[in-house]
Amino acid sequence: MSRLVMKFGGTSVADLDHIRNVAEHVKREVEAGHHCAVIVSAMAGQTNQLIAWTDEAGRCHDQAEYDSVVASGEQVTSGLLALTLQSMGLKARSWLGWQIPVKTDGAHGRARITDIPADNLMDSLESGEIGIIAGFQGIGPDNRITTLGRGGSDTSAVAIAAAIAADRCDIYTDVDGVYTTDPRIVPQAQRLGKVSYEEMLEMASQGAKVLQTRSVELAMVKKVRLLVRSSFQKPENSPPFGDDTAQTPGTLVCDEDEILEQQIVSGIAYAKDEAKVTVLKVADKPGVAARIFGPLADANINVDMIVQNVSDDGRYTDLTFTVPKDDLDKAMQVVEAAKESINYSDLRGSTDVVKVSVIGIGMRSHAGVAAEMFKAISEQGINIQAISTSEIKISILIDAKYTELAVRTLHTLYDLDAA
Ligand code: ADP
Ligand code: ASP
Ligand code: MG
Repeated sequence: MSRLVMKFGGTSVADLDHIRNVAEHVKREVEAGHHCAVIVSAMAGQTNQLIAWTDEAGRCHDQAEYDSVVASGEQVTSGLLALTLQSMGLKARSWLGWQIPVKTDGAHGRARITDIPADNLMDSLESGEIGIIAGFQGIGPDNRITTLGRGGSDTSAVAIAAAIAADRCDIYTDVDGVYTTDPRIVPQAQRLGKVSYEEMLEMASQGAKVLQTRSVELAMVKKVRLLVRSSFQKPENSPPFGDDTAQTPGTLVCDEDEILEQQIVSGIAYAKDEAKVTVLKVADKPGVAARIFGPLADANINVDMIVQNVSDDGRYTDLTFTVPKDDLDKAMQVVEAAKESINYSDLRGSTDVVKVSVIGIGMRSHAGVAAEMFKAISEQGINIQAISTSEIKISILIDAKYTELAVRTLHTLYDLDAA
């Protein structure tokens, strides 16, 4: 018998009608003869509501209590789905993170999974019971509930899939796969039949929220085959795992060797969660960058893009870098506190920026992608404020008001628009 992991996101379990629809998807796989572990998110909007309440109650005091509150959305949906399946005559039970247990480190709010001893879950699955697992949550070294960061149920699903050596991990969401860019802002975006782990990792980390970055990292390391597919496609029209007569639905995230036709650029992502910091008129001499970035690292602030302007007179320069938007205030305070040792004239922070990235494995062997990108962006009158690259990605920082224009322009430039 095959073992299958099925994960359903917030919009897929938004209310009881949606939960019944999810139950039909699960029933289809069970009837096809598979052992199913099902991971659920909280109902759409629920986690936001819970976070807002903890903020109001004074979240900054105790991150462990924050986790205890925000993990509760998944407890509700796992129980409701188990009840719904039972009412359809199927054997099912819910599992909370601590009951499996999904062991994590103690970094509340962004914990990482350290181990999943899956014996009890396996026994239950082998006995023919469907396991409904509350995603997003685990248990820390101090026996307190932890959560895995926003979108973390994807990571729960991949980690469970690895722990039970599942044959596939199906991520059901509100789109029918991974697209060349966010289909909500570019209607011409096309669904990718397959995408490599590396490209998906870059897409996710550069803002494509369809999968949590950590889940892709884990899938790549543990070689979990991921299929991103829609829960809104009717259960009766969705082929079950192992049906070789049907075309595989959705997007398979897999090894690059499995992908025959490689595009130079496979996707465009954008991220609005970065902020820009500019340090004006710092001395253009060795050691200055270290005096700025050292304290930021000590404060645990991740710096992403960095640009240092060419100095006019060889004496002073401006330095621009980006940090996560949530860390902007802290980053400004850190640089201000180090003003004497850095020695600069002024400090500016802004949040009205977006990072737009083009991603593709083909870039490894193809020159000129960056040049084409910069030309097309400049022809739209958009100023590039910072650039960063990796082997398979080029990112630019631009004014946030040009997000859609830039994404659409690049989507057309690299021939990604649907015919
Ligand atoms: P879930 O609640 O199921 O986890 P998410 O909202 O986290 O769903 O992720 C699905 C959303 O990701 C889609 O509705 C879509 O707008 C967005 N998205 C962003 N980039 C992409 C992309 N390249 N392909 C598909 N969806 C994308
Ligand atoms: N409910 C959590 C969130 O909204 C986890 C998830 O949906 O994956 O971030
Ligand atoms: Mg998600």
